[in-house]
Amino acid sequence: MEIVKAIREAGETFQAAEWKLKLADLMETLADARIEVVNVQDVVLDREKRIKELEDALAKTGELVRHLDAYYIQSDEGKPTGHPKCLRCWDVDHRLINLYRSGTAATSSGASNAKNQCPSCNTAYTVARSDTFLVTINETMGG
Ligand SMILES: [Zn+2]
Repeated sequence: MEIVKAIREAGETFQAAEWKLKLADLMETLADARIEVVNVQDVVLDREKRIKELEDALAKTGELVRHLDAYYIQSDEGKPTGHPKCLRCWDVDHRLINLYRSGTAATSSGASNAKNQCPSCNTAYTVARSDTFLVTINETMGG
């Protein structure tokens, strides 16, 4: 560090005021270094969190099954079960994000504009009229 070197070279010829000034500089440098350490710790924590997410995702890979435009957790019988998950978020980010239903569901008389929407990436998946499986799932799961 330049300041430490300067102090060493100056030795005892330094006046008290100069020492105080150098000390203040040194304290400031230390404070900056501390902030840097905290920033680095934040980055490390973020990385650790992401590694954990990816490890969890890797563990779930075998449990997932695709049905139409969503992934589902596979039941013991190999059937899709539970909430639909976003295709894009899994394929791109390896995150399992629950989709939510927007629009109105198909009825026997009217057309459907129902969509499964991702709250994370905002991708909207059109729900086909023939997609009775999802309706069954949602009723079973209470929404
Ligand atoms: Zn998504």
